[in-house]
Amino acid sequence: MKKFFLQSLLLSLTFCTCFSACNSAKTPQNKFFSSSVTEANPIEKNDDTVWDLSDVNTTMVQANRNLIAFTFDDSPSKTLENIFAVFASFNEQHPDCPAFATVFFNGGLFRENSLHLLHTALALGFELGNHTQSHLNLTTLDEPSLQKEIDDTDALLAQADGKPRHLLRAPYGSTNEQVKACAPTPLISWNIDTLDWTGASAERISETVLSNLSDGAIVLMHDGHKETVNALKILLPALYEKNYQVVNVSQLAKAHNCVMRKGKEYIRLRKQA
Ligand SMILES: [Zn+2]
Repeated sequence: MKKFFLQSLLLSLTFCTCFSACNSAKTPQNKFFSSSVTEANPIEKNDDTVWDLSDVNTTMVQANRNLIAFTFDDSPSKTLENIFAVFASFNEQHPDCPAFATVFFNGGLFRENSLHLLHTALALGFELGNHTQSHLNLTTLDEPSLQKEIDDTDALLAQADGKPRHLLRAPYGSTNEQVKACAPTPLISWNIDTLDWTGASAERISETVLSNLSDGAIVLMHDGHKETVNALKILLPALYEKNYQVVNVSQLAKAHNCVMRKGKEYIRLRKQA
């Protein structure tokens, strides 16, 4: 990471509250949520239900470490650059074990002057995810409206990464059979919910993650909360010391040899043989 880039990130520290929170009405209860959704089925040729991981860069993923995926919802909000800055700073100090994340964006939150954030995310090795256009509960929509909520944000993200589709996180984690049938990609849930949107302290957020660690976990956090940024300053070094690497969701799937399928929901991605 170039010094100039890091400095410009670090200089842009501003904090504010988030426009909305994923209040996770059906939040899995961390380690107590037992549904296993990792698949290890062999991939058949021309199986277009499989999420293509062929271009996912895992060259920086450390095979000797446990892996955990960090995800941020409700982006872009006013702490995204602060989140980027914490990762950039950590990665400069730990080039042997850089940290990555998946950011789930709401297309409706973008302004003309915020599109550059997508390129910053990509420069950091982050993955762009789709959190829909308007953050509506998808289970309340008819099929055309639901499809438009997904398609509009995919089209916006494609301007930055050139990919037609992006991993989907349903607002509020709310899905049903229609949502799964319409989803053009896997649906990414979580098995560690930091509840950062409730105003939890950085220490509380960190403890929630550190007390529920498991190889292949997916952590839910949100853009827009100062304490989330502060928690990252605790978590990235702490996880490094605990022999974990923080990665994005597709890196986790690829490194763990997991098959993810369109319309299926994933809360964690355990290592497969
Ligand atoms: Zn949300």
